[in-house]
Amino acid sequence: VDDRLFRNAMGSFTTGVTVITTEIAEEVHGMTANAFMSISLNPRLVAISVGENARMFQYIKDAKKFAVNILSSDQQKESMQFAGQLKEEHEIAFSTYKGLPIIEDALAVVTCELHSEYVAGDHTIFIGHVTGVKLSQKDPLLFSQGKYRELKELQE
Ligand code: FAD
Ligand code: NAD
Repeated sequence: VDDRLFRNAMGSFTTGVTVITTEIAEEVHGMTANAFMSISLNPRLVAISVGENARMFQYIKDAKKFAVNILSSDQQKESMQFAGQLKEEHEIAFSTYKGLPIIEDALAVVTCELHSEYVAGDHTIFIGHVTGVKLSQKDPLLFSQGKYRELKELQE
């Protein structure tokens, strides 16, 4: 299968956008990720998939914990910054929740302790055991076909 065709097809599966955050030696690191899903209710588990070349890959292995910050529709800049797509970095306001750095004003936050990991090709799937959840009333940022988008409600 052609690489471009595969990416275009995968990009047509519309997702929300998260920033994964963790802390190692008192340094906060963030990475944009849309490969996130809820896995299990009992116990509460979530999964993220991180490329082997991402710095975040080793940080999660070392820290053994991470937070998933689900972005709101006004956080496209944050998504671009943590994907390395902005020329100039801007100041990000982090706060601390359950011992992890989190992005203020995110739509929702899930904090996790590393439960298990599975190598899958050039990515590793990290399963997190949920230690805390925060939720606010906002609309999500969406990512579809390589573009950021907003929700639109359809008429019946
Ligand atoms: P770096 O490239 O070093 O860091 C990422 C960026 O975040 C840098 O610009 C850095 O300056 C900034 N940053 C980090 N920490 C801080 C801080 N404390 N304060 C301010 N700025 C900071 N990759 C995956 O592996 N899995 C995915 O599911 C995934 N989904 C993606 C979804 C979207 C919509 C996009 C756009 C990209 C996605 N990527 C994904 C790609 C991934 O976001 C990039 O490859 C990213 O640059 C890898 O980050 P890194 O850990 O190597 O760190
Ligand atoms: P794109 O056309 O490369 O990506 C379209 C879709 O393909 C993505 O939404 C994702 O589902 C899939 N994809 C892309 N790169 C992947 C990778 N390395 N591993 C697994 N799946 C991947 O470009 P875009 O949508 O404009 O994304 C911007 C940048 O972010 C690109 O550099 C892309 O590689 C990266 N990205 C990486 C992942 C990931 O690692 N899981 C996911 C999304 C985007």
